[in-house]
Formats: sequence, C-alpha cells, structure tokens
Amino acid sequence: VLRQHGSWLGGKLIISIDGAAGTGKTTVGIKLAKELNYQFLDSGKIYRAYTYKMIKNNTLEAIDIINQLSTTNIEYKYLSNKEILKLDGQNVSDELHSEQVDKYVSNISKIPEIRLKMTELQREIAKKNFIVVGRDIGTVVLPNAELKIFLTASIEERARRRFNERKNENLEEIKNSIKLSEVIGKNLSLKRRDNNNYLALCPF
Ligand code: C5P
Repeated sequence: VLRQHGSWLGGKLIISIDGAAGTGKTTVGIKLAKELNYQFLDSGKIYRAYTYKMIKNNTLEAIDIINQLSTTNIEYKYLSNKEILKLDGQNVSDELHSEQVDKYVSNISKIPEIRLKMTELQREIAKKNFIVVGRDIGTVVLPNAELKIFLTASIEERARRRFNERKNENLEEIKNSIKLSEVIGKNLSLKRRDNNNYLALCPF
C-alpha cells in the first residue's frame, strides 16, 4: 500500500509505530525502512543511552539524573541500515541492552523532565523519510506523522518474542536456562510498569 500510495501522500513521510513491548514494532519498522529506503529510529535507544550514562556515573537519584541533562549529548546516525548512538562522543550502540540498562531504563524514563528532553531530541532527529518506533510516538512525540501504526499482540506472543530476543542476546540468561513462563511473568509486570509511563496509549 505504501509503495503504491506513498508518493500520493507526498513521498517523504514520517511514519510512527507505537505499541507495547514485544509486539514486533522494531522488526516491522526495520523491514519497512529497508523496503522504503527510509531511516529508522528505535526511540527506546535514546532512553537507554541516557540510562547507560546514569548507571556508569552511579547517578540514580531523580534530581541528579535531571541535572545531568544539561551536560549530556546524544547523537544519532543511521548508517548502512544500522542505528548508531553516540553518548558524549562515544559510540554506545552495543551497550544499550545490558541487564543493568534493562533494570533502570523504565524508572528513568518516567521522570517528566527526562521525557520532555528526550521528546525534543526525537523531534530533532526524525525529519522526513523516517520511521520512528516506540511509546507515545504517534501521540506525543510526532503527532504530525503522516502514517501512524499501532501494533498489538497477545501476551503469550509478546513473551515468546522477548524470550527469543533474550536467548539471542544474553548468554547469562541461557546459562541459567530462563523459562518462557518467567518471561511471561516479567513481561506482564513490564506491561503494567510501562503502561503507567504512557501519556496516551493509542494514537487514534
Ligand atoms: O523499547 P525499549 O524496551 O528499548 O525501551 C526502553 C524503555 O524506554 C521502555 O521500557 C520505556 O520505559 C522507555 N521508552 C519510553 N518512550 C519511548 C521509548 C522507550 O519511555 N518512546
């Protein structure tokens, strides 16, 4: 449909993909970006980069987390279909999915000052020909996106996807032979925790 009608819409679109964790937002977004020759931003990576810095600096009190905003520089580039995140000049793209970042990112993203700043940053990054994935994207971050996609999936399917992702990326968890049932449990609590962060759930 996009190939047929994209040019009718002006050709250079901003496309937002919202939806809960594990619904396939990133998979769909990356495929679509390749197909359309667009750039791709997984907005969670921006929150993760900031969280990575807070962990490294052992800054875990809200007031200190906010204070570091003015001295933090996050840069984004899309090179050869890969997102490159630079934090204060250092490439941290491969550091963003550690257990530690997973543990703290949700709480740090809840802080309104952090959300505001990260929202501004996402708006600066996402110009035309962009697919942006993540929470609040179609509603708050990029309300003018020409195409808004909202993905849903059953909790079992979401847990299965998370399980497979973790299996591929986290050797420690394989060693401990993580169980699918545990991921379902974690996913449910993640869903509850993250839904409280949502400023609005569905963009339409
Ligand atoms: O999508 P991902 O799991 O990488 O996002 C990491 C965390 O960043 C989420 O759990 C959520 O707390 C936060 N986030 C957000 N708004 C976004 C993207 C991510 O608050 N647009």
